[in-house]
Amino acid sequence: MNRECYECGFVASKNASHCAKCDSPLREFPEDTILVVDIAHNGETVKEALDKLKKEIDKSPASSELLIIHGQGEIANSVLSHLEFLKSTRVIHNFTPENAGAVLIEI
Ligand SMILES: [Zn+2]
Repeated sequence: MNRECYECGFVASKNASHCAKCDSPLREFPEDTILVVDIAHNGETVKEALDKLKKEIDKSPASSELLIIHGQGEIANSVLSHLEFLKSTRVIHNFTPENAGAVLIEI
């Protein structure tokens, strides 16, 4: 099964460790446990991206992990500060930026 680069969306071959297009490291995500959702590359406004983020978190079962692709810029800043808030209010367990354009959320 091929993997998609979560930086640029390029489909990498199964054995590649780095994306052939943008050279991002490819991590093996067990697809049944981690849902990858792009909230920022469809022309979303900051508000729309945050709404998507909230919806995905609401849908996610406890103890699951969610990889959110937020890109860089205004949406990224809003997403990260919103996650900070959700963590402080214990809606999510934790979050870890994967790279400049994606964050891994532990529900
Ligand atoms: Zn790539």
